[in-house]
Amino acid sequence: MPDSRALEELAEGVLAGKIPRVARAITWAESADSRFPRLLARLFPFTGRARVTGLTGSPGAGKSTLTAALARKARAAGRRVGIVAVDPSSPFSGGAILGDRIRMQDLYTDPGVLIRSMATRGHLGGLARASADAVDVLDAAGYEEILVETVGVGQDEVEVFRLAESCVVVLTPGMGDDIQAIKAGLMEVADLFVVNKADRDGSDRVVQEILQMLELGEHGAWLPPVVKTVATTGAGLDELIVKLAEHRAFLDGPEGAQRKRERTKKRIEGLVREEILRRLETLKGDRGALEESAARVEGRQEDPISAARALASRIDRGSAGAAPCSPSKKSPKSPGLVSRISHLGIAVKSLAEGSAFWDLLGLHEEHREEVSSQKVLTSFRPVGESFLELLESTSPDGLIAKAIEKRGPGIHHLCLEVGDVRATLAKLKAAGVRLVNEEPFVGAHDCLVAFVHPASTGGILVELSEKAAS
Ligand code: ZN
Repeated sequence: MPDSRALEELAEGVLAGKIPRVARAITWAESADSRFPRLLARLFPFTGRARVTGLTGSPGAGKSTLTAALARKARAAGRRVGIVAVDPSSPFSGGAILGDRIRMQDLYTDPGVLIRSMATRGHLGGLARASADAVDVLDAAGYEEILVETVGVGQDEVEVFRLAESCVVVLTPGMGDDIQAIKAGLMEVADLFVVNKADRDGSDRVVQEILQMLELGEHGAWLPPVVKTVATTGAGLDELIVKLAEHRAFLDGPEGAQRKRERTKKRIEGLVREEILRRLETLKGDRGALEESAARVEGRQEDPISAARALASRIDRGSAGAAPCSPSKKSPKSPGLVSRISHLGIAVKSLAEGSAFWDLLGLHEEHREEVSSQKVLTSFRPVGESFLELLESTSPDGLIAKAIEKRGPGIHHLCLEVGDVRATLAKLKAAGVRLVNEEPFVGAHDCLVAFVHPASTGGILVELSEKAAS
C-alpha cells in the first residue's frame, strides 16, 4: 500500500513541522491533488491553534510592509509565522519591485517563517479552498501566526480574505476609490480597518469616512476599530496588535462564536459549490450530457426547464452517490454482510478507446486513479448506487494485460462491498473457498480489497471491498 504509507509519512512530516513536507502538502492543496482530502482529514484534528489574520487592500496600500512588520513582531515574541500571499503584486508572491523583496530578506532566511504564494489563476473558483487548505496545513505544522495577504479585488480574493479569523482592510490617504471598493464587498467582512501611510495628508479624512460608513452599516456585536499606521516606521503597529488581540478575545467569547460559525459555514458552502461546479463540468464536453440535452431542447423533444432539472438531479445523484467502497447508507454495517454491488470491473485495451460506448450512455468518468501495486489505471463511472470500473493495464505484464491476452477485453470481475473483508475472507477460507488474496490490500479509493478465485464462484473473479478505516 505505497499510497497510504506516503500519505502517512507526509502527514507525520507536516505535524513535525518539516518545511519540505509542509511545502509539499500545500502543493497538494493548491493542485487539488486527489490525495489531499485524506491528508486534510489526518491533519485537521491538529488545527485550530493558529491565529489567522487576513490583510487586504489595493496594490500600493502597503499591505506587504504591514504583513512583514506583523511577522517580525510575532517572531520577536517567539512565535512561528506562516505567510500566504494571494496577491500577485506582493513581494511575497515574487511581484513588486526587487527592493521590496530585499527589505524582507530577513523573513525569507528566518527558519521560523514560511512564505508561500498561491497562484491566483487556474483555480476554477477554488482559490478560497486552496488558501484555506494551505492555512490548515500551516496550522497543523505548528505555525502559530498565519498572515494571509490578498488584493481586495474580485470575488475570489474576497472569499479568501473572509476565511481568515481577523480580517484587516488596509487603506491609504489619497486613494479615493478605496472607500468605494469597501462598499462593494469588504465592508461586512472587515474586522479592523488600518489607515496606512498615515503620515500623509488626508489620513484623518479617510478615518472619518470609514467611521461614517460604519455608522450607517450593520456591524453586529463587534465594532471594527480604525487604526492609523505607518508600516515603514512601525508607528501604530503596537496598537494594531492590541486591537487584533482584542478581536481574538471577542471571537473566543459567546458573540464571537456566532461569527466563527458563520465563517465555518461559508467555508463548507464554498466547498459544496465547488463540488457542484466540478460535477457540472463533467456534464459538459463533446458527448457530455449537456450536449445531449441541448440537442433534445433544440429538437423540441424536451423543454429547457425539464432538461435542467434532469441534469440537476444527475448532479445531485452524483454528489449523494457513495464512493465505490463507502458503506451504503441503506444497509447496516454488519461485518459479514454484503451490502451492495460496489462495481463491475471491465478490462479495456485503453481507457481512451474503451470509454466511448459508456460515455455515449452518459456513464461518464467520475474518478480516475492508478493502482500501482496492480499495474492498472482505473476509471470509475457511477451507475445508480454502483459503479463501472474500466481497467487499463499500465504494464505488459500486469494482470489486466494478461487477462486481455487470454480472453480479450470485457467483464473482468464483480466487486461486492462487505462490512469486514478480513472476517469475510476467514469465513470463506474456513469453508474451503479458493482465495486469490488471503490478506486484503489497498486498492483504488483507498478501499481494502481482496479477490476470490473464479474456481470457487462459478467462474467469476469476485472482488471484496471495504472502506478503509482511515
Ligand atoms: Zn475492482
